[in-house]
Amino acid sequence: MSHIIAAVSTGNQVTAIGIIRLSGDGCAQVAEKVFALQNYPSFSQVPNRKLVLGTLKDKEGRTIDQCMAVYTRGPHSYTGEDTVEFHCHGSPAVLAAALEALYIAGASPAKRGEFTKRAFMNGHMDLTQAEAVIDLIEADTPEAAANAAGQVGGVLQKKLSPIYNVLTDLCSHFHAVLDYPDEDIEDFGLENYYGTLRDSAKALHTLLQSYSRGRILRQGVSAAILGRPNVGKSSLLNALAGFERVIVTDVPGTTRDTVEETVMVRSVKLRLIDTAGIRETEDKIEAMGVERSRAAAENADLVIFVCDGSSPLTEDDQKIMELCTDSPNAIALINKSDKGTVVLPSDLPFMNVIPVCAKSGEGLEQLADVIEEMFSDGAPCDGSILTNARQFDAIRRAYESMLSALQGLKLGLTPDAVLIDVEESMSAMGEVTGATVREDITARIFERFCVGK
Ligand code: GDP
Repeated sequence: MSHIIAAVSTGNQVTAIGIIRLSGDGCAQVAEKVFALQNYPSFSQVPNRKLVLGTLKDKEGRTIDQCMAVYTRGPHSYTGEDTVEFHCHGSPAVLAAALEALYIAGASPAKRGEFTKRAFMNGHMDLTQAEAVIDLIEADTPEAAANAAGQVGGVLQKKLSPIYNVLTDLCSHFHAVLDYPDEDIEDFGLENYYGTLRDSAKALHTLLQSYSRGRILRQGVSAAILGRPNVGKSSLLNALAGFERVIVTDVPGTTRDTVEETVMVRSVKLRLIDTAGIRETEDKIEAMGVERSRAAAENADLVIFVCDGSSPLTEDDQKIMELCTDSPNAIALINKSDKGTVVLPSDLPFMNVIPVCAKSGEGLEQLADVIEEMFSDGAPCDGSILTNARQFDAIRRAYESMLSALQGLKLGLTPDAVLIDVEESMSAMGEVTGATVREDITARIFERFCVGK
């Protein structure tokens, strides 16, 4: 039996309601020591999952709060154990006093993610579901939340478990033949497995492909704003961010470092990176900024090239445009449209060219249209998008081992040679679902959580 843990689940802010969680079999006895039920003689009489009124008392018997409690009997609770939640008034002082009373009554402080870890350990969720819990908590767009909610509901697990079952079947059949040669076990024809194995590899490949969208869903689109000094890059960033984030001056070369700002452009989360104006320079500090700009352009999901439309394009503009052409997603903005323009869209080698005025915000709606079209592909965020780097890496290894098993089959290798690959693939998949994951990795996963979840 695991010990009883307690934590505040609603953080350390003043809120209308603050929730304290208690989990561990027998936790109702601990709850009873600090909570005087108003209408029931004891927690054993309290109906399951019903909010009941009572008074929380500190160690001296003084009232801490009059509040509600809900008792959920294991195994049908979040953690799989008996749990009690107190819905208190959300003052950090009230919650701290209540927590202290619970510790004195026998509970211990919960570690980060310990409630969810217990749910995983008790078989209430697999690791894909447990990891999605933190993604759901941290989701900052409706799409990211929808995808995480789908994964908490088991969408990813349902995709992976038939594949894992195919591999398990294959391995167990093979081992049965090997270990019990005298038994009448159907002969092992690896070729019978070829088709199913190939279908499994395809399914993993589809999942792996979803990761580029998943990364964007999780981290946002990284967008580098490029252009020579003074064309209005910082002004554009400020216009998009809706507040002053970068000091705007009319002395060229003042944005010496890159500045990052996250903004929502409709449903797309953009991580805008304002780069130092790119141009050939002798200035050492500025040269570092220029180098950073080049790197930002190379690593960005989206490159936004800005030029000053009120003056002719320069050699520097041309050089910077060359940096942008390698990017799969690039947009050119002809800025300062209020000053009249001498630069035509046809002068710029971009698919998307938009005249804008960073000062008035004109043209930004059109920019938003293009960005939305580029990055919301309309595919459902139902949990089938892979967003987690750890999962991506494990599935990639599972996929590669599967390909190598398939190749072994084609080449007619002996079953034991092929099965080494199959077992490797299984083990990598097990890291995703939690079937074979090592204790130290499990520990690290739950450290990402907050206390109380
Ligand atoms: P950066 O060096 O590319 O980041 O350029 P800034 O954003 O610092 O802008 C340089 C100068 O151009 C500032 O004086 C801005 O006020 C001005 N500026 C930026 N955008 C516009 C615009 O749309 N119209 C006009 N008239 N001036 C602008």
